[in-house]
Amino acid sequence: MRLLVTGGAGFIGSHYVHHVLSTTDDHVTVLDALTYAGSLENLGPELRSNRLTFVEGTILDPDLVDDLVKTHDAVVHLAAESHVDRSFLAGGHFLTVNVLGTQLLLDAARRHRVGKFVHVSTDEVYGPLPEGTAAEDAPLRPTVPYAASKAASDLVALSAYATHRVPVCVTRSSNNYGPRQHPEKVIPRFVTKLLKGERIGLHGRGEHVRNWIHVSDNATGIDLVLRHGTPGEVYNLGGGTDLTNRQLTEHILRVCGASWDSVDYIQDRQSNDLRYAMTWAKAARLGYHPRRDFEDGLTETTDWYRAKSDRWTPLHRNAGSSVP
Ligand code: NAD
Repeated sequence: MRLLVTGGAGFIGSHYVHHVLSTTDDHVTVLDALTYAGSLENLGPELRSNRLTFVEGTILDPDLVDDLVKTHDAVVHLAAESHVDRSFLAGGHFLTVNVLGTQLLLDAARRHRVGKFVHVSTDEVYGPLPEGTAAEDAPLRPTVPYAASKAASDLVALSAYATHRVPVCVTRSSNNYGPRQHPEKVIPRFVTKLLKGERIGLHGRGEHVRNWIHVSDNATGIDLVLRHGTPGEVYNLGGGTDLTNRQLTEHILRVCGASWDSVDYIQDRQSNDLRYAMTWAKAARLGYHPRRDFEDGLTETTDWYRAKSDRWTPLHRNAGSSVP
């Protein structure tokens, strides 16, 4: 299969590309604009593979998108603006990239009759759940501009199935962690600051609850949905670990060999959903199961940041706040 992966030089995208190259004979083309969040280093030695082609460009370029989609059998769409805090200041840009970009890809997928289109989304579209869990048919109640743009793009993608029978599947995963994540996101931000001997800031009292999925489990889930998912369906992909941010901080302090003396409690951000939670029974029926143990995954992730300070030190200067 010839697979077009948008956003493949980003965090999850690069893990997904590695997963495909190491588990299949498929050819992968990555389309990525190499924004502040993308890097060719994320693709590493795979760039020399004759099964990987890298194209630098934006999903907002309809001619480029058309040219690429027409020579591929399937699209896995991860390119997006992905950081909640940045969306507070740039809602219009998030809508343009995340919604219009998705529409342009879907238009090309319809014209060229691609075999499958996987749109990669997030549990944040369900909004905060004080209790209970969201299945795939739960109402979408996003509360921050990032999540609103992702919810809109999910609906655009599903409407392309309903209207034109573009064979779309949507995946919604929880909070990813693992090597190569940009240090604007909470786990790498806390880890890299502690490794530098700096203090970290925990919002509010650290009471917010997030579900954590290792990025390799998400890559596996996305690929299962690509190969076995039913068009028109949404698949939640959860991880095995629910933690308050205070519990998360406790884990990070332990693996970094630091103590609560390094933590400042800082004012909560202007909008911060208290709790996300979802079920993933539908993906389980495709064979999905989160396999990575959180403590092991966090230790491995911390070891990666410890060994790669040359990668993240330059990024620190531009990193946002610590909200997951
Ligand atoms: P990321 O910010 O690390 O990577 C995004 C990639 O998209 C970057 O390589 C960037 O250069 C590229 N990109 C941005 N704008 C582009 C454009 N106009 N054209 C082409 N490429 C462009 O994000 P991530 O954490 O890897 O997330 C990937 C996808 O997964 C996103 O759609 C995100 O909404 C979704 N998601 C992320 C998480 C998470 O915890 N990180 C959870 C659920 C869903």
